[in-house]
Amino acid sequence: MTIQELNADTKEILKTNVENVRSNIQKICKEKQIEKNITLLAATKTVPADVINYVTQQIGVTDIGENKVQELLEKYDKLDLTNVKLHFIGKLQTNKVKYIIDKVDMIHSLDSIKLANEIDKRAKNIGKVMDVLVEVNSGREENKSGVFPEDVPSFLKELEKFENICVKGLMTIAPVCVEKEEYRKYFKETYAIFIDNLQNKYHNIYMDFLSMGMTDSYEVAIEEGSGIVRIGSAIFGSRYN
Ligand SMILES: *Cc1c(COP(=O)(O)O)cnc(C)c1O
Repeated sequence: MTIQELNADTKEILKTNVENVRSNIQKICKEKQIEKNITLLAATKTVPADVINYVTQQIGVTDIGENKVQELLEKYDKLDLTNVKLHFIGKLQTNKVKYIIDKVDMIHSLDSIKLANEIDKRAKNIGKVMDVLVEVNSGREENKSGVFPEDVPSFLKELEKFENICVKGLMTIAPVCVEKEEYRKYFKETYAIFIDNLQNKYHNIYMDFLSMGMTDSYEVAIEEGSGIVRIGSAIFGSRYN
């Protein structure tokens, strides 16, 4: 059940859940001799603000991600963002950029030039350079957001002209798979694109972050080179909506 109330039991569960995820991450890094820091981003859709504040301010989760503009705005004033980075991880409609441009530290879901235009314009208005990740549709699924893997290089090239956008890396949401191992090929391909673009010479494009892996897939994602895992249900329990 989704956690709706912050009582002593809830706190204990949250603590245990976060500890379990952290220790799994550590275990994989040790086994695979991965030395970089993996960022644990808590995906907080449907989670009330006081629960989010508990995991950030009491359990030390440093990064949180919302995926709906409306929900982010409803919670925003109640969030304690001291030492916390707020990410936008869901599909972003162009007409909603203006509501979040001043509130989020990174947008994970840039996948069109139209959206880039709007982010650039709105960021310029408030004197901000917006950090973004380019979303890759690693499963090449129709009706799903993200740039197809083969189109990433030309997309990055087009982003060079936006002065108020800084590309910090790539993000992917893999297709839903039954077996954990099935995720590997999507993460492998996304990592390959990440590596291929490390050396590009665009002034506003860096490959610092690779955001991939969720509750069902983060172990495999880390093995395949992820640096940010976005975890919802393993921390907050499963969602019924
Ligand atoms: C909900 C969500 C997650 C986390 O999903 P879980 O399977 O609950 O860990 C990660 N990324 C995005 C974009 C999401 O919307």
